[in-house]
Amino acid sequence: MSSVPGMSKKMFHRLLQVISVTKHRQFSASSNMKKETVGFVGLGNMGNHMARNLIKNGYPIVVFDVNTDSTNSLKSDGASVASSPAEVASAVTKIVTMLPESSHVQEVYNGSKGIFSTVQKDSILIDSSTIDPSVSQHMASEAQKKGSVYLDAPVSGGVNAARDALLTFMVGGPETHFNQANELLSLMGKNVVHCGAVGTGQAAKICNNMLLGISMIGTAETMNLGMKLGLDPKMLAKILNMSSGRCWSSEVYNPVPGVLEGVPSSNDYKGGFGTALMTKDLGLAQSAATTTKAPTPLGSVAHQLYRTMVNHGLGGKDFSSAYLFLQDKNQK
Ligand code: NAD
Repeated sequence: MSSVPGMSKKMFHRLLQVISVTKHRQFSASSNMKKETVGFVGLGNMGNHMARNLIKNGYPIVVFDVNTDSTNSLKSDGASVASSPAEVASAVTKIVTMLPESSHVQEVYNGSKGIFSTVQKDSILIDSSTIDPSVSQHMASEAQKKGSVYLDAPVSGGVNAARDALLTFMVGGPETHFNQANELLSLMGKNVVHCGAVGTGQAAKICNNMLLGISMIGTAETMNLGMKLGLDPKMLAKILNMSSGRCWSSEVYNPVPGVLEGVPSSNDYKGGFGTALMTKDLGLAQSAATTTKAPTPLGSVAHQLYRTMVNHGLGGKDFSSAYLFLQDKNQK
């Protein structure tokens, strides 16, 4: 910056100092301003990290989960604990929900102690669960009757992305409300995309997960075949990841134990994204494919494979246990 005509150099530097101190004070005042309390319902594999990221960014939170271990853990990090979704909704006007399936969302919002029983006017309700788009649309119209707004905002990225605030949010709902939700969502993710009207976030998510479900099975089959051919799994993964077979499942979430650190396959397939949840998402994709008459042959086979895995006791394991499912149990 050049000096002001008629002003001495000394005075000019003094002026710059005053401007800089004032700006710093304004910034400190705004960053120290007490933030609005946010509600969070559903503190499972994903929700617990997402809620913690709000705390880390200075947001007081009030939480509810049917699992008291989860609420106790958040309480020790500074969250207040409510006794029901209704109590959360009576305390705050911004709520994030992160629940397993459509039925849980219906209960948390529309149940006798649900959010809609006490929701305050102009509240913003952000549901990040992956559910049937028609259920999201129904919740949005119920919210509207109460003078509040419901957005579907399902996420992509596993538990590590939730922990590191690197999720992608796919948001459905009116643009003005999307803009209002954006500030909170940006604290939990690195990409926040407005997909269109309510339900379109779920549509995008279901399409993504159909591809993910298919590519995980493909990666598991490929890794298994390569190892049967005598290839070292780490070397094979390296080759795939520098070649045209590369995908998220091979590179970031490899299903073979020991290939990558810090992923479910290297931790007995614990945590992560449960096979039962992947089966649910592929079921949603199949319903959508039936409704729209879109042919999805690989999505259909993938759905049946994950469902069979659930029936073989892998429902609670991460979906990368597709690799485990391919193993010959009789082989020593
Ligand atoms: P999760 O099963 O680990 O957690 C769900 C939580 O909801 C649990 O803590 C459970 O106790 C709680 N809950 C269930 N019913 C409730 C109720 N009535 N009231 C309050 N709490 C209730 O599931 P997750 O892995 O965290 O996944 C949540 C959602 O996110 C699912 O829809 C899933 O498909 C989606 N998702 C998961 C991942 C992943 O990698 N885990 C990635 C992207 C999207």
